[in-house]
Amino acid sequence: MNETHDPALASWLDSANAPGCDFPLQNLPFAVFRRGGSGENWRGGVAIGDAVVDLARVHALGLLDGPAAEAAAAASQPTLNALMALGPRHWSALRLALSRALRRGAAQSLRPCLVLQGQAEYALPARIGDYTDFYASVHHATRVGRLLRPDQPLLPNYKWLPIAYHGRSSSICISGQPVRRPVGQRLPPGAQVPVLSATARLDYELEVGIFIGPGNALGEPVHIDAAEDHVFGLCLLNDWSAREIQGWEYQPLGPFLAKNFATSISPWIVTLEALEPYRLPWTREAADPQPLAYLDSPGHRARGAFDLQLEALLQTPAMRGAGRPAQRLSRSNFRHSYWSVAQMVAHHTVNGCNLQPGDLLGSGTQSGPEESESGSLLELTEGGRKPLVLADGEQRGFLEDGDTLVLRGWCAREGAARIGFGEVSGTVLPARMP
Ligand code: MN
Repeated sequence: MNETHDPALASWLDSANAPGCDFPLQNLPFAVFRRGGSGENWRGGVAIGDAVVDLARVHALGLLDGPAAEAAAAASQPTLNALMALGPRHWSALRLALSRALRRGAAQSLRPCLVLQGQAEYALPARIGDYTDFYASVHHATRVGRLLRPDQPLLPNYKWLPIAYHGRSSSICISGQPVRRPVGQRLPPGAQVPVLSATARLDYELEVGIFIGPGNALGEPVHIDAAEDHVFGLCLLNDWSAREIQGWEYQPLGPFLAKNFATSISPWIVTLEALEPYRLPWTREAADPQPLAYLDSPGHRARGAFDLQLEALLQTPAMRGAGRPAQRLSRSNFRHSYWSVAQMVAHHTVNGCNLQPGDLLGSGTQSGPEESESGSLLELTEGGRKPLVLADGEQRGFLEDGDTLVLRGWCAREGAARIGFGEVSGTVLPARMP
């Protein structure tokens, strides 16, 4: 922890000091933005209160120096890959410089660099070369496994390694982009021949996204104690899923068309440095297998987990028509994850696989220990058998056309400033048959 985490810090920008604000001075997350509808160049920005600090303008005005200036220059581009590649020393220098410049009492030299978030639109924060989705919540894996394989919910490898599949990066969407209901093959119950149809079991998955910073060379594994130096920060991620397509296609090679039609992420990336006050010890129950040495270390045991609160909300077309806000479906916390961020990175690279700046990892659906803490409709409705009854009497087994699904995340505790992730939202469009 350092001076940027001091909960007493306040900004000369009053909106950053409002209770419950996602973006106080202690957060300073990164996005790629421009003024909405302006046709301006995309460039990096940092959130403060209800505004964005335009890092291209900070760079052009020459307001910083040293590694902070180098970081702002790298962040002036239409993607954050160059900033991500610079590493923790540069990210930290920029954070410190912005924290000092935005503090109450500082000269307001950054004022000409502010753009209101209400006037901004966002792009994907990086050129995402590769996307890997993990399966790191044992509560999710157990509940889903029980639906698919009642006799053996968890396969024997689950407690030994962080399971994942390689996903698709071309269909990663930024928050607000609509999502088209996919068409695919499914095998109707009792049938011998599959049919092609729009999925009737469209679901969301409440996940944390992990953006990679500096990569590792091909053939050179990342040690678990160095793993977090390769992580730029965390965002919110919705792994949209078509459950009956998944059920028919997923064996033996894993998810394919059930997942690769869309993955939505939040625009803001919260750095690990901002999350420092919310670290927790990483623990493994004594009755469970303890990790192999490459997935374990005293440092990781001391601080490898994060206390990140998560929630999923749904707004149906009827709610929207009546002017009612989205209704919460469930809450959870990243602290329950069976595998940590550092373990995912160490495992991903143990065979020499090279991660690159801007690569994205999904944490897997972050369901908590209680059934009400489930991060997907598959779990909440027991495979659609027990539809949710919403506040206005509507029912949902799975998502319907026009539904808007919203994920939010934040960190809060006594003695630290509350910081938020903003949100990722997406609205379901009707299917298009080939
Ligand atoms: Mn997933």
